Amino acid sequence: MRATRAEISLPNLYHNLAHFRACLQPRVRLCLAVKGNAYGHGLSEISRRAAADSHVDSYAVATVEEGIALRQAGIRQAILLLSAHLKEEIPLLCQWELEPLISHSHYLSDYQREAARHKTTLRLHLKIDTGMSRAGALPAVAPAIAGAIQRLDALKLNGICTHFASADEENPDQTQAQIQCFNQVLSTLREQNIPLPCIHAANSAATLRYPETHFDMVRIGIGAYGYSCETLRPVMTLKSKIGLIKPVPRGAKVSYGGTWTAPRDSLLALLPIGYADGYSRLLSNQGQVLLQGEPCPLVGRVSMDQIVIDLTAWAAKRAVQREQLYEQDIELFGSRITAQDIARQVHTIPYEILTSISARVPRVYLDNADE
Ligand SMILES: *Cc1c(COP(=O)(O)O)cnc(C)c1O
Repeated sequence: MRATRAEISLPNLYHNLAHFRACLQPRVRLCLAVKGNAYGHGLSEISRRAAADSHVDSYAVATVEEGIALRQAGIRQAILLLSAHLKEEIPLLCQWELEPLISHSHYLSDYQREAARHKTTLRLHLKIDTGMSRAGALPAVAPAIAGAIQRLDALKLNGICTHFASADEENPDQTQAQIQCFNQVLSTLREQNIPLPCIHAANSAATLRYPETHFDMVRIGIGAYGYSCETLRPVMTLKSKIGLIKPVPRGAKVSYGGTWTAPRDSLLALLPIGYADGYSRLLSNQGQVLLQGEPCPLVGRVSMDQIVIDLTAWAAKRAVQREQLYEQDIELFGSRITAQDIARQVHTIPYEILTSISARVPRVYLDNADE
């Protein structure tokens, strides 16, 4: 296997799921978001492992392909399709029993026809736009769509849901306005005698911060992978090994563009990881890695397949044989440097750091906490 790999701690995944389960009333279901290759952790493997864990009741994906991959991995639970799909994908929804979140009524007759043809019932979740102004039907049209679904015998209105725009922001105003709007839509539906199916709204942040958003089910993504509060444990640790150790003289210009100049005779090391692995080029001259738990700075530009780190200060404090350094694991993020730290450095969020880790990086699943 490559020196560069992403270790996936299953005990940490289970710890995080148990943490969420403990926040929920027993009747509330937990839907695990596994879109984006399970936030970079590996769609099939994470889903299979989570299915073996009694805390997960259903799954959420973004694309039809992800849904099919889950079925092919043996997942039998409900699979919600969060993002919009094409009309020509409707037969696949019926064939693989995926449950789309819908925001409009344009495809209702197509759903009905295909579901009837497949001799199945297609389950739909009506998504309400309560203030994020992205997907979702506006509150004014939601009851009409719900009513139309009810009149089609091959369709089942299986869920009513919404999504919060700012549940992880400090200011609660927008979330509270969305909660109020959602509750209003629910009362309108009740008044119109539309039987309310599974009601769901909360992502990880809302689940932790706004218990009134739990309803019948919560949709947990980033928290399951270890980010969004301190008690959660990062599941992914990105590691590599040194490919070359090289002393360079003072004044040497390092990597493309010569953006770093050795201020003294220096001991550099090359790691076989770069932006093609999803390690951001924005970390050029500002990243850090851990060698035996001690930080070493990244120097020069991140290239497609390699980065350079400066071991000078690290080596000055230790009497180690250079050859032995090739054996050492180097950690790029996961424990003391978290994906949150990296995200802060490059002005993004841990979601993007995790999902960026590319297919070239093998995922290694660890069953024991201290492997
Ligand atoms: C991704 C997603 C979630 C999960 O969000 P996290 O912040 O990762 O917990 C929930 N609901 C919808 C609609 C999503 O797209």
